[in-house]
Parts: sequence; C-alpha cells; structure tokens
Amino acid sequence: MKQVKGYIQRKSMLYKTRVEYGDYTMNHVLGCAHGCLYPCYAYLMKKRFGQIHSYEEWLQPYLVSNTLELSDKEIPRLKSNIRSVQLCFTTDPFMYEYDEIRDMSLAAIRKLNDAGIVCSVLTKGILPHVLASYSKDNTYGITLVSLDENYRRRVEPGAAPYKDRIEALRYLHEQGCKSWVSIEPYPTPNLIQQDLHEILKAISFVDKIIFGRTNYNKTVTAYSKHDDFYNEQAFKVIQFCKENGIAYHIKNKTMTKSLKQIIEENHEK
Ligand code: SF4
Repeated sequence: MKQVKGYIQRKSMLYKTRVEYGDYTMNHVLGCAHGCLYPCYAYLMKKRFGQIHSYEEWLQPYLVSNTLELSDKEIPRLKSNIRSVQLCFTTDPFMYEYDEIRDMSLAAIRKLNDAGIVCSVLTKGILPHVLASYSKDNTYGITLVSLDENYRRRVEPGAAPYKDRIEALRYLHEQGCKSWVSIEPYPTPNLIQQDLHEILKAISFVDKIIFGRTNYNKTVTAYSKHDDFYNEQAFKVIQFCKENGIAYHIKNKTMTKSLKQIIEENHEK
C-alpha cells in the first residue's frame, strides 16, 4: 500500500465539465501517481496554471480531506441538475495501490448513489469488487491502449498492469454492472507495433468501447500516415463492436473520413 503525500482542503467539489462525454465531475485528489507520459492533459493544465511545478510533484498525490463534507453540502443543492458524475477528470479515483484514495472514492460514490445520482468511473487502477453492490446504474470503465506491459511501464509507469485492470472490470461486468473501455490515446505504430484486434478480443465482454486518437504527442503527428492509420483503426473498432453487439463511440477528430468513405475504400481493396 502507498501513502498519499499529504492532505489539502478545497472550497467546492462537484462541478460541470465541458468535455465531449460528461456532465458533472469531481476531483478529490491533486496529482496522480500513474504519471502517464502521453502526456497527461490534467498534468499539463495544472502545471500551466501553477498548481503543480514538476512531473515529480505530480506523482505525489494529495487527498482532499474535506471531500465528503463538501459532497454533503453540494449534493442537495445540485442534485436536480446532475445527470451523472464522472470520477475523475484530473486525477484517478482508484489510483493503483493507494487504499486511502480508493476508500474516499468509494465513500463519495456511495453518497452520490444514495442521493439518486449515477456515477461514471474511469480508472487505470483496479476497480474494487465491492462496487458490484453499488447502484447498477453506475458505469465502470478502464483505459486500455495496449496489452504489452513493456509499453505500459513506458507510458503509464505507475498504473495497474493491464491484465489486472481487465480482470477487475470483467468481475463487475459478470456481477451485472455496466462496463466500458476507453481505448485512448491509441498509439501509432512508430510508438508500438501491435494488433488492435487482440485488445478488442480481450475486452469483448464489455458493454461499450470508446476509441480515440492522441492529439498532444508530437511523436504521433511525426508519423506521416496518422490520419489513414486512425481511420483504419476506428473502422476496426466499429466493425468489431457491430459484430459483437457492443456500443461504441469514436471520439471527435479521430476519423478524418466518413464511415461510408472508409467502407467504400475497404471494398475496393
Ligand atoms: S491516470 Fe489520468 S490523471 Fe493520472 S496521470 Fe494518467 S492520464 Fe493523468
């Protein structure tokens, strides 16, 4: 078990996001020990606005100690406006091996569910089995961009091993929970040579797959065929999901051609 670096207090907890799929969110931790090197958008923003000064500092999480008190105050006021709460946007609610963060996340989800608010969870850690006893309207997701542990150690050094993430998600799915996987940011072949189909097969039990390219990494844009590559990979995701009855969403700007164009081109090959 790992210890948080310390504790901070915040003035508010629940807020509305402007992201593509999201309503309200909460971020009850500052920093993230997963240390993703895609790079992490949350880290870049915190650094830009002076809340974090270095990558090393980002890796040492601070828990917001008044999370539950703030939730108690804000939930009654906001609950009629909230469709769902996403955990989390700028940190990870089930940071790998941080039991104190896990326990705080579980307590917050419990409070939200008790007020009739649905939660959408996304992690690169391990989803606790106990979530199976929480609201069945919640959705539980993991990020999975590869199955190769060497790549995981390179780009998500502090996150949970891929296999363990998948098994925890599979358990919740088997218990009747809604499951999803975010395949984003999917790496281009100059970063790792891999077969997307193998990843899709490993998660074929899930209810939904979200697929997206990376927009931040110069190494990716240096790969001259990245548009064609992402069109092809998104097509594979769509085909796989249709064949297996899985819902899907391709993130904005991942495909530069319409599905119709890609299907026509594939027929011509
Ligand atoms: S898990 Fe999310 S918040 Fe944490 S470092 Fe990775 S991208 Fe950033």
